Amino acid sequence: MAADREIAAEDSIRVVCRFRPLNDSEEKAGSKFIVKFPSGPDDNCISIGGKVYLFDKVFKPNATQEKVYNEAAKSIVSDVLAGYNGTIFAYGQTSSGKTHTMEGVIGDPGKQGIIPRIVNDIFNHIYAMEENLEFHIKVSYFEIYMDKIRDLLDVSKVNLSVHEDKNRVPFVKGATERFVSSPEEVFEVIEEGKSNRHIAVTNMNEHSSRSHSVFLINVKQENLENQKKLSGKLYLVDLAGSEKVSKTGAEGTVLDEAKNINKSLSALGNVISALADGNKSHIPYSDSKLTRILQESLGGNARTTIVTCCSPASFNESETKSTLDFGKRAKTVKNVVCVNEELTAEEWKRRYEREKEKVARLKGKVEKLEAELSRWRSGETVRPEEQVNLQEIDAVTPVTSFIEEKPPVPPVPVAVSSAVEDAAMQGKLETLYQQLDDKDEEINQQSQLVEKLKEQMMEQEELIACTRRDYEALQGDMNRIQQENEAAKEEVKEVLQALEELAVNYDQKSQEVDSKSRECDQLSEELQTKQSALTSATAELQQLRDLSAHQRKRIAELLTNLLRDLAEIGAAVGGSELDFKLNVDTVGKLEEEFTVARLHISKMKSEVKNIVQRCHSLESANIDANQKIEEYERSLGECRLLISQHEARCASLAESMREAENKKRQLEEAADALREECARLQAAERVQLAAAEQRADSQVRGALEAQLEQLRAAHATQLAALRDELAALQRQHQELKDTYQELTLARQQLQDDYEKLKREEADKSAKLKELIQSVERREQARADLKGLEDTVAKELQTLHNLRKLFVQDLQARIKKSTNSEEGAEEEGGSLAQKQKISFLENNLEQLTKVHKQLVRDNADLRCELPKLEKRLRATMERVKALETALKEAKEGAMRDRKRYQFEVDRIKEAVRAKNLARRGPQAQIAKPIRAGGGHMVGGGAGGVVRPAPAQDIKRKSIIVGARDES
Ligand code: ADP
Ligand code: MG
Repeated sequence: MAADREIAAEDSIRVVCRFRPLNDSEEKAGSKFIVKFPSGPDDNCISIGGKVYLFDKVFKPNATQEKVYNEAAKSIVSDVLAGYNGTIFAYGQTSSGKTHTMEGVIGDPGKQGIIPRIVNDIFNHIYAMEENLEFHIKVSYFEIYMDKIRDLLDVSKVNLSVHEDKNRVPFVKGATERFVSSPEEVFEVIEEGKSNRHIAVTNMNEHSSRSHSVFLINVKQENLENQKKLSGKLYLVDLAGSEKVSKTGAEGTVLDEAKNINKSLSALGNVISALADGNKSHIPYSDSKLTRILQESLGGNARTTIVTCCSPASFNESETKSTLDFGKRAKTVKNVVCVNEELTAEEWKRRYEREKEKVARLKGKVEKLEAELSRWRSGETVRPEEQVNLQEIDAVTPVTSFIEEKPPVPPVPVAVSSAVEDAAMQGKLETLYQQLDDKDEEINQQSQLVEKLKEQMMEQEELIACTRRDYEALQGDMNRIQQENEAAKEEVKEVLQALEELAVNYDQKSQEVDSKSRECDQLSEELQTKQSALTSATAELQQLRDLSAHQRKRIAELLTNLLRDLAEIGAAVGGSELDFKLNVDTVGKLEEEFTVARLHISKMKSEVKNIVQRCHSLESANIDANQKIEEYERSLGECRLLISQHEARCASLAESMREAENKKRQLEEAADALREECARLQAAERVQLAAAEQRADSQVRGALEAQLEQLRAAHATQLAALRDELAALQRQHQELKDTYQELTLARQQLQDDYEKLKREEADKSAKLKELIQSVERREQARADLKGLEDTVAKELQTLHNLRKLFVQDLQARIKKSTNSEEGAEEEGGSLAQKQKISFLENNLEQLTKVHKQLVRDNADLRCELPKLEKRLRATMERVKALETALKEAKEGAMRDRKRYQFEVDRIKEAVRAKNLARRGPQAQIAKPIRAGGGHMVGGGAGGVVRPAPAQDIKRKSIIVGARDES
């Protein structure tokens, strides 16, 4: 891209001057308005302290923003859009109105300054232009502080450098450029920059007074038809305060800053002075960044307007004067302005042709001049008409000078040596500039890097802090959640435990119920079996008894038979006394044996008696148990009686209560009647008195009667109200009675349950006792049986012995008799004896059979015994378990009963309290708590306070308290 200046014109810098009004502090300090505006057609003149200054325009304090814009800045818009560079900067001391002029209040149509107006105008112009033009508008915003360029659109760029483009036009390298397409976007960018500026500094006022802010609008346009490209740069600069350091009394860093500002401002002043002096060989642009940036605006290709802002106060006179001097000097500076145009190949060609023509023409002229020169040198005199026409050449010269590169090279000096020196110097200067730029660039990069790193560090720190916070928050959350979790777990555990307990309880209960029912069944079964066993045992016992009786009878028979036989034998033997006497010994033996047998029999008898006694004792135990049961039943009856008594008492109490109520009512009625009568009597008395005093006065009587009537009516209404209340209370009483009845019924039910449980317990204990008794009986029966067996065995043994003895005796006798006498007697005797023996043997056999039967029976019984014992033990255990269960149930019932009792008592108490409270307002004589409450209803003997339903509870409570006290 190459720029060329086709149209170029010299144009001096426009300087306008603006005075602001006296501000409050100046007015307070009594400063005078020292500026005079001599009346003139152009408003371009002011005089201060007798000194007159001339500017392109002078704005009085009352000049509006619009006027300032229209007359000082508006023309620049069309210039910029036509491809020229433009600059507007405000110069003046702090608070002289620079920012007011440049910026004003953005968005306020009246107070907005040059920048927003220009922006709006640029866009309005563009909107009104041809359609085949395409615009690219970009803006930059930066400030220069302490000779460092800070990008206001990117805070990380704190030290930007100034470079030169290929046309040697300085520009801020690396400054953020924002493409914008509407005024709003531009204002947004300005706002962004301003806010960034505010963020970076602590005291904005001080900072803005010490820094220069530069807003750059770059407008590029392209004609889409002929590809003609134009570009214009517009610098809008709000300079730092131009005041001298001494005035502000700055110190330390503040002083440094001030020096720096002043350095750049004095550099600006120097540049202006140099330019004003017309000594364009060396302009100290490079003294500060500000002057480098403004290089093109001050001594180059730009239409520049300086707005000098001044205070009219006497206090600021010297500053105002110096500002005006600056403006005066600047006014003399001339710029060479041309359009920044980018040419197409076609145009370049045309231009080339033109230049070629020019060169040919100039060449011809040079030849002519050379010829003339040689003629002059050779001493000839060339006549004026022969001389070359120099005007022709002059007309061409400026054009050629602008074709040359910029900055304009000073005219070629005559002395070649100095020209060479100059060129060397220029070269050196350029290289130095280059180096300076490079260094600047480096510094900028480094500082950018530092800034970036700082930012990164900040970000990292923030991130760390954020992470830490997050972590802490998370930790807290986690802890909380864990705690919650724990709590929840515990709760769940508890719930589970409770559930388990419930389940276990339920299981236990169901099991208990099952086991209880099963046990009950078993017990009843067992009872039945036991009973059957008992009956069988008793039957057996009876059988045994019968048997033993039978045996005894038989034995007795046997013995009597034996005795009889023996007697017969004796009689038979007695036939021969000798023999009998001989047999006395044997008879004695026999007698002995009989006594032994008798003894045995008596023994047996005693044992039988024992058994019978035991039977008796068992029976008596049974009777005892029955008696106990009866006792329990009696106590139960007593309890029932007690309950019924209590109930009767309750009923009687209720009755008495009702009676009391009735009585009370009657009494109240009587009281009312009496009261009424009393009132009537009083009235009558009064009437009589009145009648006595003035019988003729019928009016009074009438009044009295009316009064009486009123009183009566009042009484009647009161009575009715009281009756209503009484009825309501009666109803309440009835309700309460009903609830009481319900409660008593419930209690009765509970009592019944309790009784039932008691009965069950009694049953169970009775059963237990029975079982124990049966066990005892069995034990006794067993012992008895053993005894019986023993005795029977012994008796059998003795019988056996007896038989043996008897047989031996008989054999001995028979031998003797056979030995002593032979004959027929022998045969008959032995026959009888044989018969008896066989009889005896038969008996014996029967006895042995019976014995065997008994032994077998005994063995059977013994076999059954362990089984029965086992069963008995199990039954005992079950009975024990049942007993404990029963006990528990009893305890539970007891507890329930107590609770119920407590509940009943509580309800009774509550009912009583309620009754009391209900009856409260009826008979209560209240004291007025608050004057003018409006809730008191006067009447009768005492004021009756009836709190309105919607009345506040406080009042009610107060009244209740009062009643309680009374
Ligand atoms: P500077 O930028 O030169 O330090 P400011 O532009 O901030 O000064 O102006 C200082 C104060 O004076 C501001 O409050 C501004 O509103 C006020 N001011 C400046 N010029 C004018 C003016 N022409 N008319 C009214 N008030 C003004
Ligand atoms: Mg300012």
